[in-house]
Amino acid sequence: MHFTGQVWRPPFEAHNALLQITAGCMHNKCKFCSLYDGTSFRMSPVSEIEEDLAELRRTYPRAKRVFLTGANPFGLSQDKLITIGTKIKEYLPNVTNFGGFARIADIKRKTQEELNELHALGYDGIHFGTETGDDITLAYMNKGNTAADIVEQLHKLDQAGITYNIVFMNGLAGAGNSERHAIESARIFNQVNPASVNIVALTVFPESELYKDVLTGTYTPTGELEKLIELKTFIENLDIATTINANTVSNTAPFVAELPRDKEAVIKRLQATIDGIDESELVAYRNSIRSL
Ligand code: SF4
Repeated sequence: MHFTGQVWRPPFEAHNALLQITAGCMHNKCKFCSLYDGTSFRMSPVSEIEEDLAELRRTYPRAKRVFLTGANPFGLSQDKLITIGTKIKEYLPNVTNFGGFARIADIKRKTQEELNELHALGYDGIHFGTETGDDITLAYMNKGNTAADIVEQLHKLDQAGITYNIVFMNGLAGAGNSERHAIESARIFNQVNPASVNIVALTVFPESELYKDVLTGTYTPTGELEKLIELKTFIENLDIATTINANTVSNTAPFVAELPRDKEAVIKRLQATIDGIDESELVAYRNSIRSL
């Protein structure tokens, strides 16, 4: 199999076949992100994709889903996505669907008809690092989209029948901005239909642009207790039926929950953690994290 640089996938994609169709990120400008540090964006040649599909046919013939690697394979042209989707079906007839990460800007470049066509071919289960519904934070972090774009573009996926998962980046707005980030994110996320909302708590890694802002004093990271209070406010204001996955290495109070069923229990548990834990303990944990 061909893999270039860092390969990231959500934890719940662990049992699916991985196929590299892109490496790196076309955007690579989000201030907090160092995920693809040192890896330039690259699209895999079709010949290379076919070699990997032939290998998957030998080693993983019963795969039901293929996870397409890279930060935004959906940034590829419609023709390329159609070619790749057709090849996946040809080599792995048991596969029912395939997907990967995408940027909101990738969807903005696709028409409704193109998205409908991609879904009919098998594209589904797309992951968006939406991070926040707060326009001030989206602009500061160079995400390249507005909160209104999130709603507009994800509605196009709803219309196409493509399911999707989104991210709330806990602590992203910086110290003192938690309430705005939590409430605006819940307000925007309440207008879409994600299969899951994945909570990643921000760790500012030295390789990121954001780290430079911390050093110059332009950006003050959110405290750890403030992050937990922010997460509680976010959950309190989130009124959609979805799965919450807050169980990565970045989460200081990990949990998985179904909303609305578990909402009250999660709020209670977060409050108990907030009441019973010390900032210094949480900071020590955060400082021990080396990678997402
Ligand atoms: S957060 Fe996503 S879109 Fe932004 S630079 Fe990182 S990989 Fe690219």
